[in-house]
Amino acid sequence: MGSKMAKIDNLKNVVNGGYCVGCGACSFVSGAPVKINDYGEYYPDLSDLKDVSDGGIVKQMEFVCPSLNPKFNEDVLAATFLNNCDNASRNIGPYQDVYAGYVREGEYRNNGTSGGFGTWVGAELFQQGMIDGVIHIKEFKRATALDPFFKYGISNSLEEITKGARTKYHVVEVSEVLQMIKEKPGKYLFIGLPCMVKAIRRIQLIDPLIKESIAYTAALVCGHLKSINWTLSLGWAKGIEPSKAVRFKYRTKADDIPARAYVFTAYADDYEIREDSGNVVGGKFNQGSLMLPACNFCDDVVGETADLTIGDAWLPQFEIDSNGTNLLIVRNSQINQLITNAFERDRIYLEPLTEKDAVSAQSGGFRQRREGLSYRLRMVDKKKLWRPIKRVQAGEFLMPPLRKLIYAMRFSVTVKSREDFKIALSRDDYGYYKKRMQAQLKILRLLEISSSASRIIKRKISYFKLKKGR
Ligand SMILES: Cc1cc2nc3c(=O)[nH]c(=O)nc-3n(C[C@H](O)[C@H](O)[C@H](O)COP(=O)(O)OP(=O)(O)OC[C@H]3O[C@@H](n4cnc5c(N)ncnc54)[C@H](O)[C@@H]3O)c2cc1C
Repeated sequence: MGSKMAKIDNLKNVVNGGYCVGCGACSFVSGAPVKINDYGEYYPDLSDLKDVSDGGIVKQMEFVCPSLNPKFNEDVLAATFLNNCDNASRNIGPYQDVYAGYVREGEYRNNGTSGGFGTWVGAELFQQGMIDGVIHIKEFKRATALDPFFKYGISNSLEEITKGARTKYHVVEVSEVLQMIKEKPGKYLFIGLPCMVKAIRRIQLIDPLIKESIAYTAALVCGHLKSINWTLSLGWAKGIEPSKAVRFKYRTKADDIPARAYVFTAYADDYEIREDSGNVVGGKFNQGSLMLPACNFCDDVVGETADLTIGDAWLPQFEIDSNGTNLLIVRNSQINQLITNAFERDRIYLEPLTEKDAVSAQSGGFRQRREGLSYRLRMVDKKKLWRPIKRVQAGEFLMPPLRKLIYAMRFSVTVKSREDFKIALSRDDYGYYKKRMQAQLKILRLLEISSSASRIIKRKISYFKLKKGR
């Protein structure tokens, strides 16, 4: 990559246009500091890059940025890294097998958010001597109201690996942990959201040490990423002020809590509160409150570039089991072997699924990020604004006006909630956020229900039929 003076306009377009997920990949290759803004989101501070004379660094930053460099999109990266996939799908990428399942042995399922595979696969690779550790998300001890609750870290023992279980609907960035790998090379499993795995794949193409060290990648299926402020908003709604919030659990399991309910537990120093996030303003995950604007422009729902995809099997036959069942999409023969060996020894439960099942299990995610994305791209193009090039084309999907209205409202919920919560924080007044968002979210919910009524009723009927038949 050359070394002439280079402009950073493309990177600025990404950051200033709201297309940055704050993954930290560009910071890792350039040393530009990663910071947290008032919206509770990570971003690379490009201010010191103004006079960059080393064009090579800017090129590398653009190369690894998930919102730039369309030549190395998910399809190309998957074809480069995933060699033994006989099946291909426009929705879930290349794959060997698709399964639904959960972990039978140990406490993986109990401690996990869904079926426990997210932790089990790292533990199994570690115990088989195939990796030295797992790069995943750990709790972070907060010192100020703006600190994150979680950060990437490396787990080098079984105890640490299992301690990192559970979903964190919370922004993370990779530059710090990748630097740690540079100082402590080894063989690792990297667990991340689709955009993070995509960034890792790009870094692997230009950094041999990271390529060697990250031996396996697992992607979590992703609806979208939430800011730190979303976590603060849930706790604050139940009386825990942002500076008093110390820990957070996003999904709590219990026999009386359906698998699909997102019941959170927010912890202050000396007490905790449990609540269904659906009962809290902006808590209904899919409505888009306090999400990253960049997630509105993502078309990779399942992490198509990863060796293994792990999500929830949101299908009626599995939803009745409140203990959680995973959706698994396997793209790596060694991992496939590991899984099937464990199944033969009855250590895990597994059931083959089709690509169609996988898409149905994530139908909401695909609607929002294929159909919805094509609409949003069109809207940006109409305004003649810069935007990233996606695999989905602007206006590619036809949809009724009601769906367009829903996508437009979700978009505006994201924009408005970010601003309103920022003001609420500066005024130390949760009521401001609540008052400003409540009405819009109610209208959006009504629109969503009228658009999906038949789908919701069908799902509820099969849920209750299956529950009765148990
Ligand atoms: C922002 C976000 C959105 C999601 N959206 C969907 C969705 O739309 N549909 C769906 O089916 N599933 C989604 N998931 C994944 C799902 O919530 C579960 O994480 C997944 O099913 C794994 O559950 P498990 O019990 O197997 O894993 P667990 O045993 O609980 O292990 C989870 C592993 O993932 C790591 N991890 C947790 N949070 C993060 C994070 N933010 N970034 C990187 N690694 C992390 C943990 O450290 C742990 O190693 C989402 C996850 C996140 C973080």
